[in-house]
Amino acid sequence: MSETTAPPDCLFCQVAAGRIPADIVYQDDETVAFRDINPQAPTHVLVIPRQHVPNATEAAAAAAASNVWEAVMGAAARVARQEGVHDRGYRLVVNCGPEAGQTVDHLHVHVLGGRPLTWPPG
Ligand code: AMP
Ligand code: ZN
Repeated sequence: MSETTAPPDCLFCQVAAGRIPADIVYQDDETVAFRDINPQAPTHVLVIPRQHVPNATEAAAAAAASNVWEAVMGAAARVARQEGVHDRGYRLVVNCGPEAGQTVDHLHVHVLGGRPLTWPPG
């Protein structure tokens, strides 16, 4: 994919590189999954690509975006099974941009589960 230059202070790039500690629950060559520091459900894990991609729109625009999504969504499903929420159900959330509440500009998928989740979201 066309490389996006990562800002040197990107929080999740630093998590992926091990420079900022995180409670990592799964990782592979392309992704890292770690517990959200401010959990909104009994299971609340963030799955990120190791590669810096700022948001979902940029991921969709990138040449090899399918690889990024495939890796991240595959890891999210693995995490859901590992966390034991697959059978009862869980939610994947990708906030994109200010009105959606994206606060970290490095693509991340929230894996939420372990309690009933209401719809519509806030
Ligand atoms: P979003 O609002 O979709 O951008 O989600 C960013 C998420 O990152 C929030 O749920 C934060 O609680 C979480 N977060 C921020 N800093 C950290 C960190 N150092 N370790 C784990 N989760 C974090
Ligand atoms: Zn980054």
